[in-house]
Amino acid sequence: MTNPATEQPIAELERAGVEETDQAVERARKAFPSWREVSPADRGRLLRRLATLVEEHAEELAQIESANVGKPISGARGEVGMVAAVFHYYAGAVDKHFGESIPVAGGVDITFREPLGVVASIVPWNFPLNISSWKLGPALACGNTVVLKPAELTPLSALRLAELALEAGIPEGVVNVVVGPGSVAGQRLIEHPDVAKIGFTGSTEVGRQVMIGAAGTIKRVTLELGGKSANVVFADADLERAAASAPYAVFDNAGQDCCARSRILVERSAYDRFLDLLVTATQGVKVGDPSLEETEMGPLISAAHRETVASFVEGEPLYRGEVPDGPGFWHPCVLVEASNEDRVAREEVFGPVAAVIPFEDEADAIRIANDTPYGLSGSIWTRDSARALRVARAVESGVLSVNSHSSVRPTTPFGGFKQSGFGRELGMHAMDGYSELKNVFISTEG
Ligand code: NDP
Repeated sequence: MTNPATEQPIAELERAGVEETDQAVERARKAFPSWREVSPADRGRLLRRLATLVEEHAEELAQIESANVGKPISGARGEVGMVAAVFHYYAGAVDKHFGESIPVAGGVDITFREPLGVVASIVPWNFPLNISSWKLGPALACGNTVVLKPAELTPLSALRLAELALEAGIPEGVVNVVVGPGSVAGQRLIEHPDVAKIGFTGSTEVGRQVMIGAAGTIKRVTLELGGKSANVVFADADLERAAASAPYAVFDNAGQDCCARSRILVERSAYDRFLDLLVTATQGVKVGDPSLEETEMGPLISAAHRETVASFVEGEPLYRGEVPDGPGFWHPCVLVEASNEDRVAREEVFGPVAAVIPFEDEADAIRIANDTPYGLSGSIWTRDSARALRVARAVESGVLSVNSHSSVRPTTPFGGFKQSGFGRELGMHAMDGYSELKNVFISTEG
């Protein structure tokens, strides 16, 4: 593992292959019968203890995440706070995920929420610990056991989390981590007959392979994939506020965020004024050493990824920021003027490059926002609340914010439309993806 800000090695780990992956699945399979029998109150207590341990080790986890991903430390601290909140939430969810009774003739009909068994969670490198918790929390709350496969580039926080789970008293075998390449360990999990479900976050391309592979054993699949989200700014918005926040909606985590609002759509009549404000705000993004408290943007994850990101900047951009000299996979904040047909507006850049696109009116804004294969998140800036609701209903996207860019909370559903995937994480909705609905009819006839 390498620190992306220094290019220095920070750890060396053995690579898991098929054999180690099978062993992890076997441990999870063996642990399942007794884990599902743990009483709801006790399962809740164990998850609560894990949440508390995450809080107690918050600084350590944030330092690991910052060094492994190159994230600014302040952002990493915020993310660890969310991880604890997610486990607290699912500790409370264990005994609030009910079945129902349905009126039928001749008896009583009731439904149960049954765990699936062994669940595999395949997570990416951009928010390793956060995304792990979004999958582990509901999976464990529902009574499943888990094999977690972090991205090869960023496994360190997942390994530490598994240690904390044991320390919390979650029995051995319930949480297993496999550190191996996606093409080997990930692929084996997708095909393994004892894995009941794949919870995947990553690229749309690999998501497609997950679906294909899972078909062999009819595995349950939830997919949280790429995005090309629109930040729609109407002329009647508070332009100062909209412009001040727009850079952070795309350059946070150096743009390596599936929710990045990387298409900034601006109503023509406010375009010039907004651009001035946007450039000024982008100049204010503090890029540099992730270990410093004031840093807002760090480097990209790897040299190869920097090359991909750089390939999206053609010609003279509207604005190009500065980056530190010396080692590190740095890429500046870049604003480019684009049409929605340009590559920078069609493909997920996953880096600090935003396309600014003018639109004529509300209908045009909706048309452009929806003219993408993706549908994950997005923002709408306007002072007209009726318009905000009209546009929010019309945009084909799973997570929208009005006069805000916030997408993710432990308590609310998160996931995509179209090629951004399906299934929902977080909130009580995630529990549906980690349980099977069973219907039981009991005759009351003599
Ligand atoms: P991937 O989709 O390749 O990786 C995500 C996870 O899937 C990682 O754990 C990876 O393992 C694993 N994986 C890779 N190939 C397979 C496979 N054949 N079977 C099972 N698991 C597999 O994303 P990348 O890391 O390569 O990023 C590429 C692009 O994907 C980014 O530039 C971005 O556009 C998008 N992306 C979107 C994310 C999101 O949050 N929606 C997150 C990450 C990327 P390993 O890395 O160990 O090989």
